[in-house]
Amino acid sequence: MPWPTLVVGALICSGAALAPDLDHQAATISRAFGPLSRLACKLIDVLAHATYKATRKPGDSRRSGGHRTLTHTWLWAVLLGVGFSALAVYGGRWAVLLILFVHMVLAVEGLFWRQARTSSDVLVWLLAATSAWLLADALDDPGNGKAWLFTEPGQHYMWIGLPIVLGALVHCVGDALTVSGCPILWPIPIGRRRWYPLGPPKFMRFRAGSWVEIKILTPVFFVVGGASAVGALGLFT
Ligand SMILES: [Zn+2]
Repeated sequence: MPWPTLVVGALICSGAALAPDLDHQAATISRAFGPLSRLACKLIDVLAHATYKATRKPGDSRRSGGHRTLTHTWLWAVLLGVGFSALAVYGGRWAVLLILFVHMVLAVEGLFWRQARTSSDVLVWLLAATSAWLLADALDDPGNGKAWLFTEPGQHYMWIGLPIVLGALVHCVGDALTVSGCPILWPIPIGRRRWYPLGPPKFMRFRAGSWVEIKILTPVFFVVGGASAVGALGLFT
C-alpha cells in the first residue's frame, strides 16, 4: 500500500468512526460543523426514529428518539461507503477534497478531543483543510494511491468508501461492548426483534472511559495499529 493511501485511509477511518453518532445532539460530530451539523443531526434523528417505528417487530421496545438505531447498522455503513466511493469516482478533485476535509475534521475532533474542545472550531477547520489539500495532492501523484486496489481506468479513488465502512462498523462494535449493546444486524430479525441490541455476554461489557479501555485496550490497539501499518507499507518484506 502506498503511504498516502495508508495515511489517508487511517485518518478517514478514524473520522468515519465518529459519524454514526450524528443521531445524537450531544455527540462531538453534531457540533463539529456548527449549524450545518446540528441541522444534519436533527434530520438524521427524525429519519432514524421514523425507520425504527416503521420496521420494529413486537419484541422491539418503544422509544422516543433515533439514537443508536439506523446509523448504527451494517446496512448504513455499507450504503455510506458506496455513496462516498461514487462521489469520489464521479465528483473529481473537489469531491475528494470535500470527503477528506469532512473526515479530517472528525479525525482531529476524535483523536485530539481534549485540545479540540478548548480551541476554536475555525482552527480545527483550517488544520483539516490544509491537511486535506496536501494529502489530496500526495494521493494524486501517479503510483501514490489514487489507483489503489481498484486499478481499472475510471476507478480512481474508489477505495475511499472502504475505510468509511470500516470506521462505521468499528463504531458499532465499540458501542456493542457497552452496557446497552448495538443493533448492528438490522434489518435482519433475531427472534421477535428486528433491532436486537447485539453485544457480548454481560460480564465482558464495560463503560466508555473505564480502566479496561484506557489501560488495556488503547495500548493494545496502538501496538496492533502500528504493526499493521508497518506490514501494509511492506517495510520488512
Ligand atoms: Zn454510537
